Amino acid sequence: MDVVVVGSVNADLVVRVGRRPAPGETVMGSDLDTFPGGKGANQAVAAARLGADVALLARTGTDQYGARLVEGLAAEGVGVEHVMETEGASGVALITVDAEGDNSIIVSPGANARLTPADVTAAGDLVSGAAVVSLMLEIPLDTVTAAARAARRAVLNASPPRELPGELLSLADPLVVNEHEAAFLLGAASADAVSEPAAMARALLALGPRSVVITLGADGAVVAEPPTAGPSGFVDAAAGVPEAAPGGVAAQGNGAPGRPEGAVVTVVPSPVVDVVDTTGAGDAFTGALAWRLALGDTLPEAAGFAAKVGAAAVRREGAQSSYPRGEEL
Ligand code: ATP
Repeated sequence: MDVVVVGSVNADLVVRVGRRPAPGETVMGSDLDTFPGGKGANQAVAAARLGADVALLARTGTDQYGARLVEGLAAEGVGVEHVMETEGASGVALITVDAEGDNSIIVSPGANARLTPADVTAAGDLVSGAAVVSLMLEIPLDTVTAAARAARRAVLNASPPRELPGELLSLADPLVVNEHEAAFLLGAASADAVSEPAAMARALLALGPRSVVITLGADGAVVAEPPTAGPSGFVDAAAGVPEAAPGGVAAQGNGAPGRPEGAVVTVVPSPVVDVVDTTGAGDAFTGALAWRLALGDTLPEAAGFAAKVGAAAVRREGAQSSYPRGEEL
């Protein structure tokens, strides 16, 4: 497999309202729309539509959504042999969208909460043999960590934001976050001190991941890698010239103890597009990024491609339904 996604599958239940209800209030809304969602499923569909050989390790419930969600994934070309059925509810996102386009979302994890580290172990080669394993935080953290540990390369979209165990952070290559998630991980004090994206990316890299991508909506993305990671981009002026590690030998490889200070920072633009709906743009970006890394792109190259996919995804309504196919790009 190019990409194996270990992650979430949700039914997105969407109601449009004039305004979202205050606590204790009831408002009338539109008819209910049901869409396939979940960050894991979204990533997998994004990669599959681009032509990736992709499989999903996940759990769905025995309710009215589970089987339909799996059928939909299979129809998109995602390998679903490792999507297991769990007694009870599927993951569901309850979404209200108001007249201004602002939304409120409640995620009920359902079967996603029952994806365990033992499931990762049982999947064996599926996870350890994939070129890239793509992850997000809508499943238990110990399962995410087990998958990252087994992976040859783990792409981690740290969304929705949660505190990350140090081990998981150290395995992320890259850690993919938007600006809000970056600020969460940096903590309020440092996020105030570093609000400029390149500085934020550098600060995140210092927390321990092997590489970092911050997505910036219309402004594209910024990539930070250790100085030994590759020739692309430029050595950030504020970081100075990379120094040799103790012992006089420049550290080789990512995340090595004693790796040189500083970061190679690359700014990746996004195409200018007419925005219809940004839902799921981050998942499209991550799925595309994982695939291009699996094909051997450098991180800045893969991020440049992923930015085009994210931009294409905001031109249409919905999450998975908005994702482009290879020929469209
Ligand atoms: P979401 O939560 O809506 O899924 P996100 O906040 O995780 O998204 P963004 O940074 O908004 O992620 O978007 C991911 C990528 O999609 C960006 O890096 C960019 O390439 C593309 N993108 C998003 N919004 C726009 C836009 N308005 N114009 C062009 N490209 C965009």
